[in-house]
Amino acid sequence: MEVDGPVRAGREPIGGARAPTVWDVVVVGAGGAGLAGALAAAATGARVLVLDAAAGSEQGGATRHALALALGWRPRSHGALDVALTAGIPYQHAWLARHGVRFQGPPSVAQAPSSTHRFLLGGGLAMLTRLRAAAVASGVVLAPDCQVRAVLGDVADPSGVVVESAGRAERVAARALLFATGGAGAAAGKPALVPRPVDASGLDALEAAGAATAGAPRALVVPVDARAPRYDGGVVVRIAASNASVCCDETGTPLPLGGGEGALAAAIRARPGGRAFAIWDASAPTPRIGLGAVRAAGLGELGAQLGAPPGTLEAAANGRLRAPFVGVSLRAGALALDRGVLVDPLGRVRDRSGRPSGRLFAAGDLVAPALVERGTDGLAPALVLGRVAGSAAAEAARSTR
Ligand SMILES: Cc1cc2nc3c(=O)[nH]c(=O)nc-3n(C[C@H](O)[C@H](O)[C@H](O)COP(=O)(O)OP(=O)(O)OC[C@H]3O[C@@H](n4cnc5c(N)ncnc54)[C@H](O)[C@@H]3O)c2cc1C
Repeated sequence: MEVDGPVRAGREPIGGARAPTVWDVVVVGAGGAGLAGALAAAATGARVLVLDAAAGSEQGGATRHALALALGWRPRSHGALDVALTAGIPYQHAWLARHGVRFQGPPSVAQAPSSTHRFLLGGGLAMLTRLRAAAVASGVVLAPDCQVRAVLGDVADPSGVVVESAGRAERVAARALLFATGGAGAAAGKPALVPRPVDASGLDALEAAGAATAGAPRALVVPVDARAPRYDGGVVVRIAASNASVCCDETGTPLPLGGGEGALAAAIRARPGGRAFAIWDASAPTPRIGLGAVRAAGLGELGAQLGAPPGTLEAAANGRLRAPFVGVSLRAGALALDRGVLVDPLGRVRDRSGRPSGRLFAAGDLVAPALVERGTDGLAPALVLGRVAGSAAAEAARSTR
């Protein structure tokens, strides 16, 4: 990849006109873990930049969908990390509240609040809005549409990141880095795990820099609505298309249904354009489609609305469906990665000999498969480790000045 210098010719540098040549802490990923880390680092006076691959309204892939905050942690076998999580998790809702995040009260005066969870008012999306505002108020600079592709240097001596933004690759220099690119989750026991075909650029960047990882290089890949944001956590746009009447690729060639969602997703990836069209006729049960199905009286009209090449749907349906029609365009999406980065209790990324980095940190779902042996992690541990790692990254940056 061609990499430009730190400043975009004729444009502002990433982070704006007043961006320093070297940031104290660069956080990669503006979900719960990344924003918690950015706030913790900024609280120490560090100059903090948060890079996120998605546009502002689409950031926080999994965090956007979270509803409740767990108040407890079941220790596994992680020693000091378990101690940190057990001690930290019961206080995360209070920390969020201090940053303007609101919680639901009990549904009625007759009901006690949950003793195990606090429910977010407005869900994860509202929480992200509040945390972003708190971060900006603390002096954190947020840079959307900036995908991190590589670490400059390695786990032992990182000096910044390579960012892809507006089709160009640029360097951003930092004294310490915190990766919180999400992407993992509850993949254990799921049948649809396939060799990892998805964009996991944060994980890839850390592995290329020499980070130790645990778990298999696989992802739980399912058909998702092609309109879904690229970095969405995936669940709400997951489509069980196997009961579609017809599913075809961009050439009108039918895709086999009935083999399960993993098989269908793998087939979609292998077809031209990596896209498919699922269509149902009026006699089929209405499919559950989070973003809303497209409806039309004719297949030509439906195809035009779905962006299918003319004649594609007619060829696939071959007179077997009856109007009106319902359809959706599909692509393969990753619900969960089965691989995570190994960190120590401060969130310091370990190299392959187990040595923790002095200046490269990771938190959130990016470390979850390593942390809980392929189980799900959750928002509260992401916040705890994000905060711990953010403070430690700021401290590490201070010591290099
Ligand atoms: C549907 C759903 C419901 C859930 N409900 C709950 C719940 O109720 N309670 C609970 O505790 N947990 C819940 N979870 C789990 C919880 O949401 C996650 O554990 C947590 O939010 C993970 O946060 P994160 O910051 O690690 O990752 P994310 O929130 O996924 O954020 C990652 C960010 O990194 C960005 N990014 C990715 N790659 C790059 C790159 N290369 N460069 C720059 N940016 C990048 C993404 O755009 C994204 O903004 C749920 C998860 C899902 C999917």
